[in-house]
Amino acid sequence: YDAHLTPYYGKGWKRRGIIVVLHNITNIRRLEQIRSDFIANVSHELKTPVTSVKGFTETLLSNEVNDEKTRNYFLQIIYDESDRIDRLIHDLLQLSRIEKHDIPLNIKTVDVIQLIHSTAATLQNEIEKKGLTLQLPNLDEKEMFVELDVDRFSQVILNLIANAINYSKENGNIKVGVVFSKDEFVLAVTDDGIGIPKNTISRVFERFYRVDKARSRHSGGTGLGLSIVKHLVELHKGRIDVESVEGEGSTFTVIIPRKHHDVSS
Ligand code: ADP
Repeated sequence: YDAHLTPYYGKGWKRRGIIVVLHNITNIRRLEQIRSDFIANVSHELKTPVTSVKGFTETLLSNEVNDEKTRNYFLQIIYDESDRIDRLIHDLLQLSRIEKHDIPLNIKTVDVIQLIHSTAATLQNEIEKKGLTLQLPNLDEKEMFVELDVDRFSQVILNLIANAINYSKENGNIKVGVVFSKDEFVLAVTDDGIGIPKNTISRVFERFYRVDKARSRHSGGTGLGLSIVKHLVELHKGRIDVESVEGEGSTFTVIIPRKHHDVSS
């Protein structure tokens, strides 16, 4: 009988036992950590270009730069850095919409070989600038149809080829291969570029993870491309994998079902 509990439970209350409520907060802590890391990353990614835009604008406003060439050089930096902020915000919004499942897919039956060609054509300038050779699946091949969302899947193709370009050496080779089985479509983007170190390969699909931050930033990367690609592939009920040898090159392989509704869940 615990006298001090009488006010709460009335006279004669007897302790029969104790109810212990244990919450496993490991998972909550982990999610909090991920969220706070994410906010720190976003803030850092935004701070760098904003600082640069502010600094160069201040210098221009102070009227201390008189020659036109230098003024134009500074203006170009301001433009490029604003562009980076724009891209980052665009990627972040897209990632957040995908993660909230706020992206309804517009599934159509599409000739994927045609789609690969039209998507790759938008990167022609970058390919030429680096003197790269891009090998695409043969257009004369029989039309190969897959059910997918044209806009979202062309973004998958675009991001993978853009990465192959960014992480290639001058005059390198990029190959986009396709394999069709009855049920599945396989897309493989291979480059003979810088490759990915073995100990970091499992992390490349994480948000903001970059093997070499300076190189990624220099080529305009936001560090979000592959995590967006992975989400988009999963929306198509598919999977993505990477194989790479540092210094020799990488292959990113995407596998999606040819009929979108065949797979439930
Ligand atoms: P980024 O904007 O930095 O390219 P991504 O999410 O697309 O971001 O890629 C994450 C990281 O994975 C890159 O910073 C790079 O280190 C590595 N990576 C991606 N694609 C390739 C590739 N084809 N070859 C070598 N490394 C790559």
